[in-house]
Amino acid sequence: MRNRARVATLLLVVVGVVAGCDAITGRLIDQGVKQTLQGSRNDLLDDGKLNVVMCGTGSPVVAEGRAAACTAVMAGGHFFLVDVGPASMHNLGLWRMPLDRLDGVLLTHFHSDHIGDLGEAVTQSWIAGRKGPLPVYGPQGVDRVVAGFQEAYALDRGYRVAHHDAAFMPPESGVLAARTVTLPGPDEPAVVFEKDGLRVTAFRVDHAPVAPAYGYRFDFGGRSVVVSGDTKPVDNLVRQSKGASVLIAEALATNIVERVSKGITEGGNTRLGKMSHDILEYHTSPKQAIEMARDAGVEALVLTHLVPAPKNRIIEWLFLRGTGGIWSGDVILAKDGMLISLPPSSTEFTLGDVS
Ligand SMILES: [Zn+2]
Ligand SMILES: [Zn+2]
Repeated sequence: MRNRARVATLLLVVVGVVAGCDAITGRLIDQGVKQTLQGSRNDLLDDGKLNVVMCGTGSPVVAEGRAAACTAVMAGGHFFLVDVGPASMHNLGLWRMPLDRLDGVLLTHFHSDHIGDLGEAVTQSWIAGRKGPLPVYGPQGVDRVVAGFQEAYALDRGYRVAHHDAAFMPPESGVLAARTVTLPGPDEPAVVFEKDGLRVTAFRVDHAPVAPAYGYRFDFGGRSVVVSGDTKPVDNLVRQSKGASVLIAEALATNIVERVSKGITEGGNTRLGKMSHDILEYHTSPKQAIEMARDAGVEALVLTHLVPAPKNRIIEWLFLRGTGGIWSGDVILAKDGMLISLPPSSTEFTLGDVS
């Protein structure tokens, strides 16, 4: 709605300019500036709830209206991003998320659809006024990823400091800081952040040959959210999700992808056919995700990283086909902009939209 209002204001400005009416265009510009400044969603950090915004629900396969992997979690005055896939920072900017208060990025693994916007995450949050280096948590190898982005954005940082001066764009805030998360044992979790009632825990999942690959659990106010990262079904995800309010799990509709893969191969594109067949090996089907949600005893399941991304109700129906009767809990197919709010010490669960 806010975006529509901004577009309407902009159109009126253009009409005003064409009509040559300076007084009206001046007032409209002022109004547009006011609307832009008003929008910041600080409320999502400060309303006492555990809030989740789905900032990217797609996969490496390009899908209209869906950025690649990104889940924003906000609670107790803190703001984390689990993965920053391509186009996710564009979403966060459009939705007026308070990037100046971004505490860190938690990477599940280093496939391109999970890290592509890391350079934008540090740069956009620096421009917004974030202070100090931006921590990037992740499995072994996160230092290499961070060093690469750091170098790729080095010239950009220099331009900005030279242009605005170091007092306005402190160079030390324009950089990333790698935080390698080491687990005490293969199936043991590690606390990566604990402050103001919010605890963030990392744990191992199974995305072999990508290893290690992590999921993250957020606990706040007696509520909890688990983000699976990319994984095939694995007992440790069930264990770490025990008693959680919401499990946000990746899902690949094997019934659709198998058929598509066969069709592509028979159609002569053996390269794409092989690739679409290979991905079946290290992801989770909707049925398997529902079984894990049931076994973990969570209150609701949100499916994301949707392959293929459903474009309409028919594909949504096909995506979940054959999953009836496994579990009585809520199963939700995520969309970009979806807001999940969990008030403390309750079983309440509300769905909204920040876009
Ligand atoms: Zn992956
Ligand atoms: Zn992925």
